[in-house]
Amino acid sequence: MQKLAIVGGGISGLSLAYYLQNDFDITIFEKEKWGGKAYTKKVGKYLLEEGVNGFLSNSPKTLELCEAIGIKPVKANENAKKRFIFDNKLIFLPVKPFDFLKSDIMSFGAKMRILKEFFVTPKCEEESVAEFADRRFGKEFTKKMMIPMLAGIYASTPEKTSMNAAFPKLKKIECEYGSLFKGMMKLKRGGQPTGELHSFEYGMSEFIEKLKSKIKAAFINKEIKEIDELKEFDRVVIATPAFEAAKIVKKHKKLSELLSKIEYNPVAIVGFDYNEIEPVGFGILSIKEKSLGVLMDKYIFPNRNAIRVMVGGARYPDIKNLSEEEIIEIAKKDVEKMTGAKNSKFTWIKVHKNAIPNYSLGHQELVKEIMNEARKIGVILAGNAYNGVSFNDCIKNSYELCLEIKKNINR
Ligand SMILES: Cc1cc2nc3c(=O)[nH]c(=O)nc-3n(C[C@H](O)[C@H](O)[C@H](O)COP(=O)(O)OP(=O)(O)OC[C@H]3O[C@@H](n4cnc5c(N)ncnc54)[C@H](O)[C@@H]3O)c2cc1C
Repeated sequence: MQKLAIVGGGISGLSLAYYLQNDFDITIFEKEKWGGKAYTKKVGKYLLEEGVNGFLSNSPKTLELCEAIGIKPVKANENAKKRFIFDNKLIFLPVKPFDFLKSDIMSFGAKMRILKEFFVTPKCEEESVAEFADRRFGKEFTKKMMIPMLAGIYASTPEKTSMNAAFPKLKKIECEYGSLFKGMMKLKRGGQPTGELHSFEYGMSEFIEKLKSKIKAAFINKEIKEIDELKEFDRVVIATPAFEAAKIVKKHKKLSELLSKIEYNPVAIVGFDYNEIEPVGFGILSIKEKSLGVLMDKYIFPNRNAIRVMVGGARYPDIKNLSEEEIIEIAKKDVEKMTGAKNSKFTWIKVHKNAIPNYSLGHQELVKEIMNEARKIGVILAGNAYNGVSFNDCIKNSYELCLEIKKNINR
């Protein structure tokens, strides 16, 4: 059997190992924590996600993987459907399009502008999320909807994110149908999210441990610093963040330079426990605060007693230079302003200096160049830096990569 090395024991590396375990003799190297950004910290009675909060049930590959390894995801309760934004005051975010039009989330003029989307000329060339949303729905929509959304998913801003790379399906609908509304109607999608939020009874680490237990491989806790350390292997997959992959392949200058071009946004996660905190719901996303949002974990999943605040992102990258105490102070001030809560009896923090890759303008072209260059030197790249940041994307992309690797097994 050929020997395969996988560098990086996050969900991308682990799910790839699971899919390839019967075809290769696999060794996985992890420098820090198995699960990577999918890691649950237990502090006394508190279960706190350092990264991934959950996933939507609209990706068959994730659900199939759960079933195959024998773990049942837990659906967030009905509170998860109540979402809020903070724009100097708390505003309930309606889910159904008709409720949206009835709500006071935007001015009458802005709602009328949204309806004009049917008639806006389509544009297929690459553009930022801000350009796309301004053009199709108007500036008020960008401010009230896209700023919070980009903060929540990418820890980024609409200006800094490529629409084509971050939301390729929406861009495709615009291109094919001429308008998102027309496309959604033809596809019979009401414009609502197509899946429901899930996690696991004891957090994401429960899934990671179960997955690991079902993989036939050698698990080695070691940082790989240089590709030459892996000479004994027939194939090498690097499933680390792009800047780490750049270091590992540093002797291949061009590939290393291309990988270094993918920027990362920092995010700190601060946990609190306030006796009484409102609103009851999934959480709040903000428009201009240094804290991007508040996740009310304790109201939506079992065994969670805390809430978590996300601080920083592309909106406030300076958190990289602050002490933990300073970041906690920012989070505390923001959460108390947004919710009115007082006197948390618990505080916890995890700082990710390079949390999430920023899919900037030109990202798709850059990824093509990176993959071409990697192919030339026989290295395979995986992970959330390239074709989707979500937990679901990582599993789906690893599955597709496994098919490609198997197809080329004898080359
Ligand atoms: C704060 C935060 C919240 C998030 N929330 C969600 C969410 O709710 N839902 C969602 O779908 N997605 C979420 N994400 C996105 C999430 O990052 C991805 O879905 C996914 O977990 C990334 O997995 P990965 O395996 O590609 O990378 P990672 O999880 O980063 O794994 C890479 C691994 O490689 C290891 N490594 C790096 N260098 C080396 C080396 N030299 N040698 C050996 N090992 C090395 C690292 O230690 C790490 O374990 C969140 C991300 C963050 C940061």
